Amino acid sequence: MIIVMGQGASPKEIRAAIARIKELGYTPHPIYGKERTVLGAIGDERGKFVLQSLESLPGVERVVPILKPYKLASREVKQERTVVRISPGVTVGDRQLLVIAGPCSVESEQQMIDTALAVKKAGAHLLRGGAWKPRTSPYAFQGLELKGVKILRKAGDRAGMPIVTEVMNPVDVETIAEYSDVLQVGARNVQNFALLKRIGKSRRPILLKRGMMTTITEYLMSAEYLLSAGSRQVILCERGIRTFEDATRNTLDLSAVPVLRERTHLPVIVDPSHGTGVAAYVSPMARAAVAAGADGLMIEVHPTPEKALSDGPQSLTFEKFADMMATLKPFIAAAGRAL
Ligand code: PEP
Ligand code: MN
Repeated sequence: MIIVMGQGASPKEIRAAIARIKELGYTPHPIYGKERTVLGAIGDERGKFVLQSLESLPGVERVVPILKPYKLASREVKQERTVVRISPGVTVGDRQLLVIAGPCSVESEQQMIDTALAVKKAGAHLLRGGAWKPRTSPYAFQGLELKGVKILRKAGDRAGMPIVTEVMNPVDVETIAEYSDVLQVGARNVQNFALLKRIGKSRRPILLKRGMMTTITEYLMSAEYLLSAGSRQVILCERGIRTFEDATRNTLDLSAVPVLRERTHLPVIVDPSHGTGVAAYVSPMARAAVAAGADGLMIEVHPTPEKALSDGPQSLTFEKFADMMATLKPFIAAAGRAL
């Protein structure tokens, strides 16, 4: 249920409503908006109508059911768009078009420092690199793990960029959060509920990738796991879904962008690298993503894609990444955004 407080509700009245929600056995999730405060009361759906009694409390304007199965992620609960603050000057969900760039995997210190400096120069804000890699084959490169995260941190610091890396195991959340500004949940783990519950407790922003088999509703339910665990800083990422088409690695579902922007207040970015699997298609789909209303992009970049230990065929060289950024500029301006 949503408890909508009146515009002039006092802090005392808000506290009283929160206390009453708890007494009734529900968890209050206050959302302090510019105009008014809204209290999400989350818990057992079956008995939720007991919350209707809150309408008689001073300062409460109305109590309304949340119709969507995802609650905290829905625009019913929060109309205003969420702006996730990653570091001073790096945000997503506002006018800034967030650009995340870097290799699929962290391979060496030199690779990461060269990449960080090159992508920063071309206009990227956030440096990526996988240290724990979810590979289809157990014989493929599995990542440098903690050593990789430390290299990523060093490269980010050298270029003055915050970093993002994937977390695969709930036991690693705390350690990785010490180094990484943003924690990524990969497509394969979108419904790893134990991981979502644990990572949702982290104070770090979370980049949640859509699963290749998840519907938009299922995807938003995964975001709901993070929000219900306490996180308020969730970024969604469309990265392509499985279809019958095999000319591209996945089918980049750009229609998910306007659908998600309508249904949720969370920022939505697009990953055309995994979405297409082919370097030549990355730049056109990045432009299309901006035109569709994406709040940001995630692009794989490697100094020598032909030698990459993972995802070489979809990785851009430094030069191609700089070209992509240059051709993107008029599209960014046309979408009413800035880098
Ligand atoms: C990645 O970002 O390198 C990755 C593994 O992506 P996804 O989880 O979308 O496949
Ligand atoms: Mn990859």
